[in-house]
Amino acid sequence: MNNHLSERIKGMSTSATLAMAAKARELRGQGKDIIGLSLGEPDFNIPDFIKDAAKQAIDDNYSSYSPVDGYVDLKEAISNKFKRDNALDYGINQIVVSTGAKQSLANVAMVMLNKGDEVILPAPYWVSYSDIVKLAEGIPIEVPTSIDTDFKMTPAQLEAAITPKTKMLWFSSPCNPSGSVYSREELKGLAEVLKRYPNIFVVSDEIYEHINFRGGHVSIAGIDEMYDRTITVNGVSKAFAMTGWRIGYIGAPEWIAKACTKFQGQNTSGANAIAQRATITALEAPVSKIQFMIDQFHKRRDLVLDLLEEIEGFKLNVPEGAFYVFPDISSFFGKTLNGITINNASDFALYLLEKANVATVTGEAFGNPNCIRISYAASEDELREAISRIKAVL
Ligand code: PMP
Ligand code: GLU
Repeated sequence: MNNHLSERIKGMSTSATLAMAAKARELRGQGKDIIGLSLGEPDFNIPDFIKDAAKQAIDDNYSSYSPVDGYVDLKEAISNKFKRDNALDYGINQIVVSTGAKQSLANVAMVMLNKGDEVILPAPYWVSYSDIVKLAEGIPIEVPTSIDTDFKMTPAQLEAAITPKTKMLWFSSPCNPSGSVYSREELKGLAEVLKRYPNIFVVSDEIYEHINFRGGHVSIAGIDEMYDRTITVNGVSKAFAMTGWRIGYIGAPEWIAKACTKFQGQNTSGANAIAQRATITALEAPVSKIQFMIDQFHKRRDLVLDLLEEIEGFKLNVPEGAFYVFPDISSFFGKTLNGITINNASDFALYLLEKANVATVTGEAFGNPNCIRISYAASEDELREAISRIKAVL
């Protein structure tokens, strides 16, 4: 029956992060003691002041369809947040609220890309970028970076990847999966190149902006000549631990925001009303209210780096944000461990799952075949136990 499915879905890969999380869940159901370090999901509860706002919204009967692009007062809160945190001036007609940043990204792809348009993805990139671009009939153009440049794309690499068909550049900073954070100087370098190509648009995915251990998050839309060609993507999943509540948003030139609203209106309509109301409270709160989570991630980052450095064969950068480490484990390729030959990063991740009962994600899903991604959005005890198991089976 599979033959009856569309070419569109047949050509799409399953999200590797979600697949690994499902596999870990399944193995746990069979009684296995799996430690899940595969999913990028904060392990904190949603702060009480945000839960209270959602409860209030239910009592206040926020039960009807919201405007497609989000409640006006939520868009005002987002506009203020962009000013406060990013020095960006997005009016409410430039903002679209969606069912997670994932939907924001899919909207942008569907409204900006024509068949055959090229989208530059500095690799490693977030797992869904490539399939979202392909769904919109765009062509992902991967620009490989390595641990030696802290997984960042240089201006020369960007320039070399540009062709007459290049329509967009998509990247995240702080980056999922590498944790790398672009500095203002580095972004200026990329902007210098882009200035020479006025028809290229940028998706700047800033969903990890607050989980940044070097401080000073920089939005590329704030750099000279970039504002009119940048779509700034953000959401509440990571900083506020609101993954399941599904709220993301964009700030963009008004004509792009309008197109996204039109597309979303035929696709899903406005995002969940209760979650939108709670998001107003989340975004109006000072960052100090979520600082405890950021501090915990920072502490865990240091712990995980210290523990992993003890394992021979892992090559590590120092991630400055998000909650992932992305070690290069290619030194294990070609080796046979406990009777299992490791030929690539997928073999390695499967080996860790089977022998150490630890779920990670292969770097192949992020466009880097030499690495695996380990999420440290887990308790210190779990992290210690997981890494000691990994060490034991290697
Ligand atoms: N972008 C990046 C870089 C992410 O890691 C995620 C995590 N899911 C998303 C976008 C999507 O976030 P959400 O849909 O939960 O808002
Ligand atoms: N962004 C998270 C991750 O990279 C959540 C999973 C997903 O949405 O793919 O693991």
